[in-house]
Amino acid sequence: MSSLKTLILGGTTEASQLAKLLADDKRFAAQISLAGVTENPKPLALPTRIGGFGGVDGLVAFLEHHETQALVDATHPFASQMSNHAMAAARVAGIPHLVLQRGPWVAGPGDQWQDAPTLDAAAEALGPETKSVFLTIGRKDLVPFKAQPQHSYLIRSVDPPPADVLPPDVTVITAMGPFNEAAERALLRDHGIEVIVTKNSGGTATGAKLVAARALGIPVIMVRRPMPPDGVVVATPEEALTWLEAQHHEASSKS
Ligand code: NAP
Repeated sequence: MSSLKTLILGGTTEASQLAKLLADDKRFAAQISLAGVTENPKPLALPTRIGGFGGVDGLVAFLEHHETQALVDATHPFASQMSNHAMAAARVAGIPHLVLQRGPWVAGPGDQWQDAPTLDAAAEALGPETKSVFLTIGRKDLVPFKAQPQHSYLIRSVDPPPADVLPPDVTVITAMGPFNEAAERALLRDHGIEVIVTKNSGGTATGAKLVAARALGIPVIMVRRPMPPDGVVVATPEEALTWLEAQHHEASSKS
């Protein structure tokens, strides 16, 4: 049978790893899609398209135009709009759909985590007294923290946030993971950090700050993940490959 035409929705380490697994595999003709939010994305092992599709209808049109046979949603666990669009578009287009989403971080002994259902709740949980806060939530979701201007913030994001969403007392550093524990400890110490706010993204690339926080006894406000969309969910690129192999097998048996 010919190659299985596959679209991967990317923007994560796992999507990049899956791209590597598929790149030289003749059973698949895969491409990867990025939203275009990162200014200088790392090059990927598959043909890459960049930019939104224009909602569910736009994605359906894309899938049909490219005669896509399988859709893998490997977007970030907090990219819920794209994930919901992917699920809906795959249904309309009548093609199989997989969610590749890494597992969440789980608190262990010595961790002082406070669960927050939303970013607004996380900002409020900082309380009225001035604190030195390390914010690693990306650059898009800073508005709730601007509404808590009593704190001193250290913000780390891949690209610099727009000035109009920043709280008044802020230091911004731009950096892309992976980060290591020794450097994270030094960063927390050097900036006198008293509390960390982060989204429960999971994964190893940005997990070192949690190990450093545990070692230094620093509390963490952990923003809960949105629910993943319905359907088949796997946690690793290898499991996604196994699922794609099954789709290839099924398509081959029909042709
Ligand atoms: P989102 O809110 O779920 O999606 C907003 C819109 O961006 C979507 O409706 C879609 O536009 C477009 N989009 C998102 N992912 C896309 C992709 N892979 N390819 C093409 N268009 C895409 O997404 P987000 O939270 O802004 O995340 C944007 C990207 O950054 C995702 O690829 C995600 O994997 C990555 N990322 C997100 C986070 C995070 O914390 N949210 C962290 C790290 C990486 P249309 O409706 O026009 O199709």
